[in-house]
Amino acid sequence: MGAVTVITSGKGGVGKSTTTAHTGLALAARGRRVLLLDCDAGLGCLDMLLGVSQRRVFDLSDVVSGAASPAKAIYASPLMDGLFLMPAPLHEEDLVSTGVMQQLVPALARHYDHVLIDCPAGLGTGFRSACAAADRAVVVSTPDGVSAAAAAKVRGQLLEVGITEQRLAINRFSAAFFRQAHFFSDLDAVIDATGIQLIAVIPEDSALRAAAVTGLPPKDCPAALAFARLALRLEGRN
Ligand code: ADP
Repeated sequence: MGAVTVITSGKGGVGKSTTTAHTGLALAARGRRVLLLDCDAGLGCLDMLLGVSQRRVFDLSDVVSGAASPAKAIYASPLMDGLFLMPAPLHEEDLVSTGVMQQLVPALARHYDHVLIDCPAGLGTGFRSACAAADRAVVVSTPDGVSAAAAAKVRGQLLEVGITEQRLAINRFSAAFFRQAHFFSDLDAVIDATGIQLIAVIPEDSALRAAAVTGLPPKDCPAALAFARLALRLEGRN
């Protein structure tokens, strides 16, 4: 049975989907079978990031309605062997209940080493549904006060739904960041404000924005190296 990790953030636009896609790529590059489950109904973009948007016919909502079997709604990414995606429902109202997630996700996890669930922003029904079958969470925050405050709220909500294993990924870090006028003076202050144990610091890297258009970023760009370390730590190898 694969590990089921929900990638969440509270605040939108901080790099949650980017983290889900590139952590998946990094785990697959380690030879793992990885399924990304896009739960960002209406706004999901993992199909674009993984190069399957032209081919997608079915998605999570079709599996839930019975219109498609799970196998029909899972697409192999052309970017990396071993990386698969079940795309998000196209419409925001196609939310999946927690009960359905608790049945579907363990059944899928039997066929993969990792299932990464991309959670919608916010703390509502979509958040609870995305977390319903997760063993653990990676909470993504940028180093600013607003994002860290949202991450702290997410921490509380995760505890409420029983997810105690939580790790913080600080995204879009740059050395210049704390030299500008910001709420926090350093990374330690960000970690303390969220109250979540750190697993990775992902640098601001223009190669990631370019990768959203072209596919894979260079293997040795700073962000790709950070995601490779995040993947290693998720597997408890350091
Ligand atoms: P979310 O899923 O939290 O809404 P996204 O993953 O869609 O956020 O990222 C929002 C934007 O930020 C995208 O344009 C993405 O390419 C960019 N981005 C995310 N992380 C980084 C980074 N570390 N360096 C540069 N750009 C980034």
